[in-house]
Amino acid sequence: PGTAYAGQRRPADASEPVSSTINSIRGMHDVLPSDMHLWHFLEDTVRDVLSTYGYREIRIPVLEKTELFARAIGDATDVVEKEMYTFEDRNGDLLSLRPEGTAGVVRAVLQNGLLYAAPVRLWYMGPMFRRERPQKGRTRQFHQVGAEVFGAAGPDIDAELLVMCQRIWQKLGLEGIRLEVNSLGTSRERAAYRESLHRFLSDNRDRLDADSINRLDRNPLRILDSKNPGVQELLRDAPVLNDYLGEESLGHFEGFRSLLDGFGVAYQVNPRLVRGLDYYSHTVFEWITSELGAQGTVCAGGRYDGLVEIQGGRPWPGVGFAMGQERLIELMRHQAEPPGEVPHVYLVMAGEEATAGGLQLAEQLRRQVAGLRIQSNLGGGSFKSQFKRADRSGAPLAVILGEDELREGQVTVKHLRDQTGQEKINLDVLESWFKNYLRMLN
Ligand code: ATP
Ligand code: MG
Repeated sequence: PGTAYAGQRRPADASEPVSSTINSIRGMHDVLPSDMHLWHFLEDTVRDVLSTYGYREIRIPVLEKTELFARAIGDATDVVEKEMYTFEDRNGDLLSLRPEGTAGVVRAVLQNGLLYAAPVRLWYMGPMFRRERPQKGRTRQFHQVGAEVFGAAGPDIDAELLVMCQRIWQKLGLEGIRLEVNSLGTSRERAAYRESLHRFLSDNRDRLDADSINRLDRNPLRILDSKNPGVQELLRDAPVLNDYLGEESLGHFEGFRSLLDGFGVAYQVNPRLVRGLDYYSHTVFEWITSELGAQGTVCAGGRYDGLVEIQGGRPWPGVGFAMGQERLIELMRHQAEPPGEVPHVYLVMAGEEATAGGLQLAEQLRRQVAGLRIQSNLGGGSFKSQFKRADRSGAPLAVILGEDELREGQVTVKHLRDQTGQEKINLDVLESWFKNYLRMLN
């Protein structure tokens, strides 16, 4: 009573722990230190590649007004209808955890007047939240890297986004990610298509599942996205969007495709690839791997020339993509895992005097040798127990500072992971020894 935990169960007697452990929310996972090298490698690679194309990072809040997503993503979508984490703030505002990044980036661009310098190339990275059924490759908190470009209407920028993706796959050491592309034309062209698709699907209503029937009148294009095999079979005979495109749309698509050819980016046209939202136009694409099972799309994107206007701005063209970081990391694990981020050196020190000297020495080396990772032993202990910890740290080297070494102005360097053995090294050449060691590693 009197505390915020007033209702919590109290222990029956003093021998019981004060409380039971609390686990994370279903579908929301910790990223553990043992995986961090994969995340760092992915994020560093993305940052490097995007900056070489002139993209600049933007960081936006994780929480926004629900209305922002309702407007940008659309009411008749799974994301807005049933996947958002929404709650009422203390002042009555309806807020949601962001399910994706584009809506927030558009808001930020308008709010901060960034379009004066259009075209602007932006990228972001961070956690997104969707309350879907957790399964392999699908979680409730996941992470995306996204890029958005505003103020460029031509197919050149669509193609640049894809050549950039390809460079990222290459730098990550990933292979076999295939590219599917399609054109959605303009919203007027899509309206005519939508009508004939609706007619076709209504005539075959008995072959649709409940989900598709639900979408039939509201947003029949989204049925093209159905994962039901029976529905997919029916769709093979459905009218094709491409037949409804006018000259200008076909021109954009052809321009886009010949630029991809010029860049050497291989692709397949998938006439059933859609995004079910009205503000999408022209180019849409997905990068897909067959190595991750059903959740194989690692990156998806397209052109959304109507979105900025929907958010209250002037009609600026926009195009972008979002990559799923967890799926890319899973693929890196399958194909080309980068080296782990263990310390290079575990520092073993015997005796009080050697400990003080050792900690100083470690400081000095960190200052002198850029990138050298040194983990000092904590809490003393025998040589034997210190070497056990050195082993557990994963470090390839132990630097040993005992009374002998202290007296002689030396350290012993012991190779822990191979048969090289150990050697004594004078303190005055230690800096160059480690610089050389790191050079050999790289
Ligand atoms: P899907 O058809 O797989 O549900 P989507 O169309 O909902 O995908 P987008 O909104 O286009 O996905 O998001 C871009 C990328 O983000 C996806 O291709 C995927 O790699 C990743 N992603 C989306 N939702 C999740 C999730 N719940 N868990 C993990 N990654 C996700
Ligand atoms: Mg989804």
